[in-house]
Amino acid sequence: TDPAKIRNFCIIAHIDHGKSTLADRMLQITGIVDDRSMRAQYLDRMDIERERGITIKSQAVRMPWELNGETFALNMIDTPGHVDFTYEVSRSLAACEGAILLVDAAQGIEAQTLANLYLAMENDLTIIPVLNKIDLPAADPEKYAKELADLIGGKPEDVLRVSGKTGMGVAELLDLVVEKIPAPVGNADAPARAMIFDSVYDAYRGVITYVRVIDGALKPRQRIQMMSTKASHELIEIGVSSPEPIPSQGLGVGEVGYLITGVKDVRQSKVGDTVTDFTKPATEALPGYTDPKAMVFSGLYPIDGSDYPVLREALDKLKLSDASLNYEPETSVALGFGFRCGFLGLLHLEIITERLEREFGLDLIATAPSVPYEVTTEDKKTVTVTNPSEYPSGKITRVSEPLVRAGILTPKDYVGTIMELCQSRRGNLLGMEYFGEDRVEMKYEIPLGEIVFDFFDHLKSRTQGYASLDYEEAGEQDSDLVKVDILLQGEQVDAFSAIVHKDKAYAYGLMMTERLKKLIPRQQFEVPIQAAIGARIIARETISAIRKDVLAKCYGGDITRKRKLLEKQKEGKKRMKMVGRVEVPQEAFIAALQGD
Ligand code: GDP
Ligand code: MG
Repeated sequence: TDPAKIRNFCIIAHIDHGKSTLADRMLQITGIVDDRSMRAQYLDRMDIERERGITIKSQAVRMPWELNGETFALNMIDTPGHVDFTYEVSRSLAACEGAILLVDAAQGIEAQTLANLYLAMENDLTIIPVLNKIDLPAADPEKYAKELADLIGGKPEDVLRVSGKTGMGVAELLDLVVEKIPAPVGNADAPARAMIFDSVYDAYRGVITYVRVIDGALKPRQRIQMMSTKASHELIEIGVSSPEPIPSQGLGVGEVGYLITGVKDVRQSKVGDTVTDFTKPATEALPGYTDPKAMVFSGLYPIDGSDYPVLREALDKLKLSDASLNYEPETSVALGFGFRCGFLGLLHLEIITERLEREFGLDLIATAPSVPYEVTTEDKKTVTVTNPSEYPSGKITRVSEPLVRAGILTPKDYVGTIMELCQSRRGNLLGMEYFGEDRVEMKYEIPLGEIVFDFFDHLKSRTQGYASLDYEEAGEQDSDLVKVDILLQGEQVDAFSAIVHKDKAYAYGLMMTERLKKLIPRQQFEVPIQAAIGARIIARETISAIRKDVLAKCYGGDITRKRKLLEKQKEGKKRMKMVGRVEVPQEAFIAALQGD
């Protein structure tokens, strides 16, 4: 295809502003999906995406569009809208020349609208501002067109108004895409260079790699090389999605499509990497490749210990399709055998746990999420601690924790309550900016460790769901952090250790000891439950002793009843964990980890 006839664009929006629905309408209006096979969120292929209504993996679709008697090829790249997947969003954007900035006409600009817009501007994309859902009775297009025009510069009249639901305005939008977004440019005679912006695992075909060709061309049976890993493969198939895969004779400058090489592991085909020709390689890779970093860690344990091999196999399988998932075996006194897993963020953690439970039938317990801390000991050694129970013993000279820069967009009435929340999470207010008459963006620097633990829930409940949050990494800071251990009769219970700020250590200790006192049944002897920082006890509860004589209730006679009781007791014991001499039902650990 002549590059002049190609337009590459993406749709960026806050979650739920209607990106997937608009994409559906485009598929229909351009005729590549007929009305009969149309189903909602056509491009969101994973079950979990469809059920939660979110897009996890981006997809690219080629659509024909005619304007003034000429046919253009529009490549639409759907991007995930959530903060955890910022790296994927930014790679998708780098594959485009333009972006449709979609805003719900009943909601206005939100935190991820801004975050995505900034990413698009960093990539020099042409922005087309669009208000969606104008069919809604609550829509206020006048107000929000002005808000949007103020944000990106321009006139409110130039903000297009559409409804992804009814299809109104969508054809005009596609015309605008052709008119406003620049055609791709590249050197057709140079050695091939294509950027990988997505890589998905398919059980039948292996890894399917989505690329945007910058220079040169890629052809079937060509031998290609990945520039970061130097791995080389033969192209078994190359083509475009429209939206089903259609093999082609090759992809040239500016084209977007997929490659299949038969590899089985997405780590061989990394998002952000450059594909080149093996025999005539390009000298310089395209900019932008980085390994996404795990920022949230949690231990995943099967509730039924015999499921451990199933869990291992399930993680191995998920890893094939998700290169950002990390895990290694871990054992815990309280929870048995499991894995310490690293995730991009909280949503990523939730999605993986849900997929493990749903697709592999596992029942799992996840330990409280933790972030990576850099801990320096007296002998000047620094280690990265992702699991509180591996915190070095002995004298600690320095602890640093990851920071994020958070943007919170809220109606101005909630500014006070949000400040309170952020202060209680050790946040540092960097600035505030007004949008329109009634909304404010508050910028905070906050330790990531304070955000991963129920921050979002608190933000939502304090603002009746109106505030939205986005954040990006912002380096590290030294902090007064300590490890709090929880002890049962002097024995440490690993899964309950936590790294917290010095000022919060006491509250954590108190909460956990109280919680455990309620959950752990009385034993034959007295059991102290203590919270400690090193050797210093900071909180204590005691479970008093009982003489547990189950047979005493049976009045001697009834032998079968006695036997039944004994069996029942034995069964109960199977799910008991021993911490030193103390017997604790596994349920108690699970309940304590889950909180209220
Ligand atoms: P995404 O998260 O940006 O992909 O948003 P979705 O496309 O999944 O849409 C979120 C919700 O808004 C869904 O319930 C859609 O049915 C609804 N929605 C999307 N577009 C429109 C529209 O134009 N009008 C109305 N009334 N609802 C819409
Ligand atoms: Mg979506």
